[in-house]
Amino acid sequence: MPVVPVTDSNLQKAASIIREGGLVAFPTETVYGLGADAWNPEACARIFEVKNRPFFDPLILHLAEYEMVFELCSQVDPRADRLMKKFWPGPLTVVLPKVEKVPDIVTAGLPTVAVRIPAHAAARELIRLAKTPIAAPSANPFGRLSPTTAKHVEDQIGENVDLILDGGPCEVGVESTIVAFIEDKPYLLRPGGIPLEEIEKEIGPVEIMKSSQRSPLSPGLLSRHYSPRTPFIILSGDLPKIDPGKKIGFLAFQKPPKSGLFQTVEILSPSGDLREAAVNLFACLHRLDNANLDIIYAEPVPEEGLGRAIMDRLRKAAGKG
Ligand code: AMP
Ligand code: MG
Repeated sequence: MPVVPVTDSNLQKAASIIREGGLVAFPTETVYGLGADAWNPEACARIFEVKNRPFFDPLILHLAEYEMVFELCSQVDPRADRLMKKFWPGPLTVVLPKVEKVPDIVTAGLPTVAVRIPAHAAARELIRLAKTPIAAPSANPFGRLSPTTAKHVEDQIGENVDLILDGGPCEVGVESTIVAFIEDKPYLLRPGGIPLEEIEKEIGPVEIMKSSQRSPLSPGLLSRHYSPRTPFIILSGDLPKIDPGKKIGFLAFQKPPKSGLFQTVEILSPSGDLREAAVNLFACLHRLDNANLDIIYAEPVPEEGLGRAIMDRLRKAAGKG
């Protein structure tokens, strides 16, 4: 449970905890991950316990070197290869057919495995020192807001992890984009830190997996996820009538709302920059959720570039993903 800064000796300590089957929360550029040795099914099972994550929701494996892909995947589609070479290290996860020995608990029994190399030096050093792929979902209870600081991790699951490495706030702030290669076709399973437009520039059109099609292929992508405990509504048009007796929060994209009736206001990006909005998204949501409000209203953001990932998280927070 101790929170320690990223130093050489703490990385060594974290790596030995992973090798011994423990759990380490560590920073990545997207959000903080809760990591375990991917080859150790018991250690991976603890991830599910601590997060209260359903076993049907597969884990993403974090690698330090591109070559590790070939230890885990039985086939690498040339387009996946192009994406990995272009965007790794970075917030892109690819889903490819797995080799037999990848534990079923990691893949939820699917014949595929999800892999990525994070763009965070401490994360890669941890993986290198642990000498194993690290299975790591976000370090938060299942369905709740993702952690973008070590404090978010400590507050939510601190008691149940062996070590939390504090590497400061995450630089991207939303989870990775997930692209699966299924029967020769690329599918976007989750919008994330690499915009779809950039992916399509590399490999041509990518089909966006609709929520109704997703469940057997990517079981974890539920319509409610990344949720605050406070009721959360995305505005479409004007503000609804506000009951002055209620404590209401507002999540704005760029400018504060005109109405003075809000108890707490958070602004994603005063300059209207979607990248900055993504970085701030979960921290703003954590603050709103901790402000004892009756309801939170959110303004939609433009649905382009990183705005697609932001709107996906907002819709899921509202249970409408
Ligand atoms: P996260 O909770 O951010 O770690 O992301 C994990 C998500 O990646 C899961 O909820 C799945 O939707 C997706 N995923 C992981 N492994 C696979 C896989 N083998 N096939 C399809 N989707 C996967
Ligand atoms: Mg998560």
